[in-house]
Amino acid sequence: MKLHEYQSKRIFAEYGIPIPDGDVATTPAEAKAIAERLGRPVVIKSQVLVGGRGKAGGIKLAKTADEAEAVASQILGMDIKGLTVKKVLVDEAADIRSEIYLGVVLDRAKRQVAIMASSEGGVEIEEVAANTPDKIVTVHVHPLLGLQAYQCRNLAFGIGLPKEHIREFTKIAQGLYQVFVESDAGLAEINPLIINGENKLQAVDGKILLDDSGLFRHKELAALRDPDEDSPAEIEARASDLSYIDLDGEIGCLVNGAGLAMATMDVVKLFGGSPANFLDIGGGANAEKVTAALSIILRDDRVKAVLINIFGGITRCDEVANGIVEAIRTLHVTVPFVVRLVGVNEEEGRQILAESNLITASSLSEAVQKAVAAAKGESA
Ligand code: GDP
Ligand code: MN
Repeated sequence: MKLHEYQSKRIFAEYGIPIPDGDVATTPAEAKAIAERLGRPVVIKSQVLVGGRGKAGGIKLAKTADEAEAVASQILGMDIKGLTVKKVLVDEAADIRSEIYLGVVLDRAKRQVAIMASSEGGVEIEEVAANTPDKIVTVHVHPLLGLQAYQCRNLAFGIGLPKEHIREFTKIAQGLYQVFVESDAGLAEINPLIINGENKLQAVDGKILLDDSGLFRHKELAALRDPDEDSPAEIEARASDLSYIDLDGEIGCLVNGAGLAMATMDVVKLFGGSPANFLDIGGGANAEKVTAALSIILRDDRVKAVLINIFGGITRCDEVANGIVEAIRTLHVTVPFVVRLVGVNEEEGRQILAESNLITASSLSEAVQKAVAAAKGESA
């Protein structure tokens, strides 16, 4: 889950990282009021969950409150990389003397948290990594010792930061590391971290990516979710407690268990098909959940066939069968269904489905081959 810049920076501030004074607005009038309160030139920044807003015209300076109102009315409603701007951040404008990059990520290969810094702030770090990789300095953090002051000094020296800023820089890097660890993030990034006209460090932009699997421990962070980040199908799936991810293929997959779902997708690929989604209905799913899942799958008009692969255990095949029957009764089904049910109550499940016009299979490879053929309009 991605956090907006203003959300990320508010969290940074709680950890002692200096940020510009400012607030969010959803209307030009609100933007004007914030600019009036700040009483100085401001920067109006579109709050959309993509990078490169500056280049896309989503960040503009305004000298007066009236100008802030005019600029906000230009930016609100703007389309940036397919996302509509619904909020702007009105911050006191920063007087930028130099721009630094500072980011915390998980280095999976090393199994440690990595802190990266670069003197080439303001540009995307991927670009720096591709063009001038020697401009990126990295340290790895021992999970029990945490980020040590000497490591922060190494980062600071490595990017040529003037000595007078090392204490502040250390505090900011350690704060950012704490943010990363305590919020179960996958990324915490300040780009740019600037040296301003008062010769102080300040976080001008902020980005936090949270690990969805850690969100249950952070109700207050989960509440910050912007529903526009996900497709309507993904939002509906979350409401029904289904793990669902949109993909581009033509075979809708309904499976119980994440591992089986992935294996099913692999087998679909193996037989020349392409999955339209990842969908795990979870253990012990009841009929309603199966119907909800099918309704989400069938909304995607790229779906040419639906493959249902259930390995009954905690999930009972008769419950799944009832969900399928209910879906066929209540939804407008125009594509073929291929069903493989094995395990607990599979016989009962088959009987429930006997009346429905479905393609059945007993093995996974048979089911997938039938689904691939059905998606092509052939009968296997
Ligand atoms: P991004 O383009 O989405 O990464 O948004 P940023 O917040 O990082 O802004 C992009 C660039 O706009 C920064 O690197 C700065 O060069 C510039 N910028 C952002 N805020 C200000 C500001 O308050 N004053 C000035 N002068 N430039 C700014
Ligand atoms: Mn940025």
